[in-house]
Amino acid sequence: MLCDTNLSLALKSEVGEYRIFNFSIFQIKNGGEQFENCKINLTRHAEINIKIKCPICGKNHCYKFKINDFRNTKMFTSGCENSGLTVFFIGEFEMISDTINKQIYINSMIYAMI
Ligand SMILES: [Zn+2]
Repeated sequence: MLCDTNLSLALKSEVGEYRIFNFSIFQIKNGGEQFENCKINLTRHAEINIKIKCPICGKNHCYKFKINDFRNTKMFTSGCENSGLTVFFIGEFEMISDTINKQIYINSMIYAMI
């Protein structure tokens, strides 16, 4: 059993900013959860199904994670099948917000150097 049933998903927007959605395993167990451009379901085999409308290529992409995978890994990064660019992070809220903050910091450093 998971100790923590809450997960977060940070989905990139068309302008490259991330929006974080929080959900629980129980929530998606009962009919799924629909966020903007993103649908999350739980399968009978304890897998989390994520369907997104890609902010980069505009097509729909599907991803699958096993609930057990989140026991050992705090965060997964998934990308666009067509471009290879990161589209979302899923996992522990703290880990995701740290990663996004680091990216914002690195991007601001890059812009400062140009
Ligand atoms: Zn894509």
